[in-house]
Amino acid sequence: MPPILELRNLTRHYPGQRAVDGISLSIEPGSFFSLLGPSGCGKTTTLRLIAGFEQPTAGDVLLRGEVVNGRKPYERNVSTVFQSYALFPHLTARENIEFGLKRRRAADIARRVQAAVSLVSLDGKERRRPAQLSGGERQRVALARSLVVEPDVLLLDEPLAALDPKLRQQMRLELKAMQRRVGITFLLVTHDQQEALSLSGRLAVMNAGRIEQVGTPEEVYLRPKTKFVAGFLGEVNWIQGVGVRPEATRVARVPDTNGARCRPAVITGTVFLGDCIQVRARLESGEETVTQVPRALGAFQAGDPVYVSWHQADEMTFS
Ligand code: ADP
Ligand code: MG
Repeated sequence: MPPILELRNLTRHYPGQRAVDGISLSIEPGSFFSLLGPSGCGKTTTLRLIAGFEQPTAGDVLLRGEVVNGRKPYERNVSTVFQSYALFPHLTARENIEFGLKRRRAADIARRVQAAVSLVSLDGKERRRPAQLSGGERQRVALARSLVVEPDVLLLDEPLAALDPKLRQQMRLELKAMQRRVGITFLLVTHDQQEALSLSGRLAVMNAGRIEQVGTPEEVYLRPKTKFVAGFLGEVNWIQGVGVRPEATRVARVPDTNGARCRPAVITGTVFLGDCIQVRARLESGEETVTQVPRALGAFQAGDPVYVSWHQADEMTFS
């Protein structure tokens, strides 16, 4: 099957600013794809180029194999969930959701709107205006409004960023379930690596307008191609030129005798994290490592002599 969305050398420069600097990507129909990167790396600009709110300086956007560069936003079968939700404040939830269908003079509006309302679990709240809904509920209205028009691709710009941590976790699960149920291609933009890892089939890690790596969550987390990707996806203990994830690093009072790499170290501090204890240790090289250990093993004190160990298979190396 051809990709539903393809970017070829997509570029958008502003005076003195290469916001998007030659991105190429191919996204499979029905997949959940994420663009992950720090603030300012060009994620929103990329989405705006795809949606047609911006024109590329160079390169192409293709939908279902067709270049759509010259098409107006409403002539592209994509729909966007904006970071701010951008709901109409004077319309009810239902009116917000049906707005796009009415404008398109679509058939079967009542049934489709009802299905979208149920999909996002807003039954019974259809008559409320945005101001009478919680942040999470406004988010659901924005999702329903974009999904109800059955776009080829749903673009989501940091859709969970405004929610409190607990609700964000819950909406993460719902978003993933929703994508599976409707089968529409989701392209999510986020700076939150856990969000990208937990939601995506594949993701692209962006830095300064460019893509550093594309892969599955496992590939980019466990086999990062660059130090930037390694560091952006999680913590890294840098030990003599190789990177080791904290969860692959152990601290113990006795040396590891199971063939692991092992270095003497001194505890420099511990932090109680609730479910575990974070332990910092300094190697003789001066490098500092961080590890999380179960509370039961957490009786380390600053100054204690210990051994830091890891397996060669867990080393991340970069050329
Ligand atoms: P992200 O969404 O990853 O945080 P953006 O795509 O919003 O990043 O912005 C990428 C870069 O382009 C930033 O440095 C931003 O300041 C710049 N930028 C975005 N829009 C404009 C614009 N209209 N004019 C000039 N610079 C812009
Ligand atoms: Mg942004």
